[in-house]
Amino acid sequence: MYLLTLGHDIHFHDKKIALLEAGPRKEYSHMPDSYSNRVSSISPGSATLLSSCGAWDHVCSLRLKPFQRMQVWDACSEAMIVFEKDDLDDMGYIVENDVIMSALTKQLDAVADRVEVFYRSKAVGYTWPLPSHSCGTSPWVQVELADGRRLQTKLLIGADGHNSMVRKEAEIKNIEHQYDQSAVVATLYLSEATNNSVAWQRFLPTGPIALLPLSDTASSLVWSTSHDHAAELLTMDEESFVDSINSAFWSNINHSDFIDTAGAMFRSAISLLKPSGTAVRQLPPSVAKVDPESRAMFPLGMGHATEYVQHRVALIGDAAHRVHPLAGQGVNLGFGDIACLAHHLSAAAFNGSDLGSLKHLLKFETERQRHNVSLIAATDVLKRLYSTTLVPLVLLRTWGLQATNALPPVKEQIMAFASK
Ligand SMILES: Cc1cc2nc3c(=O)[nH]c(=O)nc-3n(C[C@H](O)[C@H](O)[C@H](O)COP(=O)(O)OP(=O)(O)OC[C@H]3O[C@@H](n4cnc5c(N)ncnc54)[C@H](O)[C@@H]3O)c2cc1C
Repeated sequence: MYLLTLGHDIHFHDKKIALLEAGPRKEYSHMPDSYSNRVSSISPGSATLLSSCGAWDHVCSLRLKPFQRMQVWDACSEAMIVFEKDDLDDMGYIVENDVIMSALTKQLDAVADRVEVFYRSKAVGYTWPLPSHSCGTSPWVQVELADGRRLQTKLLIGADGHNSMVRKEAEIKNIEHQYDQSAVVATLYLSEATNNSVAWQRFLPTGPIALLPLSDTASSLVWSTSHDHAAELLTMDEESFVDSINSAFWSNINHSDFIDTAGAMFRSAISLLKPSGTAVRQLPPSVAKVDPESRAMFPLGMGHATEYVQHRVALIGDAAHRVHPLAGQGVNLGFGDIACLAHHLSAAAFNGSDLGSLKHLLKFETERQRHNVSLIAATDVLKRLYSTTLVPLVLLRTWGLQATNALPPVKEQIMAFASK
């Protein structure tokens, strides 16, 4: 679906784009009352990309919830960091994944003359051309579909998720690691209606728990925890599930006097140096109910392809990189990839160059790896740093978070990076 951007590009007017999707067509004629349990935090940069191809208007007409503030805090200390915009701009948008799919599907219909979509069409095999093709060999990539049909293309874009068959068949190495955590997701209803414009995340020693706003009365849960605890959360009765969530956000059972005192001393020291840099702590809303149909769990992992491109192949989205959801960046990295790839392919098409040539593809790879690697590494370090209750590390991260929270220029840089 990422490829809609190419269908909108004027320089692609004489190119044929085929989109293969193993699943069925997904489109809402009207929104169901209940929320989907799979949502994403969409950055302003991704919203701009979706606007540029006409899909954001559909998202807005279906359902989304903007948020203006993000509060992240540690369960082992009083340390917290708050991100908010001074100019009342939105920090991001919580959007159901199905809403994004529906909006993109609608917009694909508008470019049906340029982008042909094959639903329920699974690619099952690829034949790669040799870089300098000799007589008798095809210069194009051959794609075989499950129903026996064959297609050929000058450029194959692998956007087929973290188990990417394109990546495996192209023999591109993937550095990967399965985390000792699964994410439990659910739709939650709040005890009372609130403005609900804050994205909350608390780092528990077992993993981060996030509450993402969906409306004034509903929020979405993403709770990363040990596989066993995740399985337990899925089977417990509704009342115990809700109690576990409220206690995960409110309980101070992991605090210690030593860390609290050291944190308080450090906080007062930096507030003397920089009194304007700290933000007010807010309390998260309490949860009253869970949508009984909405509880589900997903194993978590990280991965990074050592190459994003080869001759006539490019990888984007989770096919190229997989991150822990604590940063809420997986899909945004994918949108960033396509914006970058579309930019380089558009220039190549304008110059009449071969779209599958490594010359343009390598520019895409360099640009995106520079961005993605730093985010993936930072997310991985955060996951590890917050998975411990070792006093020196808790102290280190407490001071680090307090210092970062007191330095608006550093926070602005983090926000600018995450909003791309
Ligand atoms: C619990 C959880 C919460 C998350 N929250 C956030 C968040 O808040 N913000 C965020 O940015 N990211 C978030 N993410 C990450 C985000 O969901 C992923 O990064 C994103 O879905 C990846 O999109 P993708 O299109 O690259 O891959 P996928 O979503 O895996 O899509 C791959 C597509 O390829 C198709 N396909 C696969 N193989 C074939 C084949 N052989 N032939 C044809 N079609 C094929 C599939 O049908 C599918 O449609 C979260 C992830 C999890 C697990």
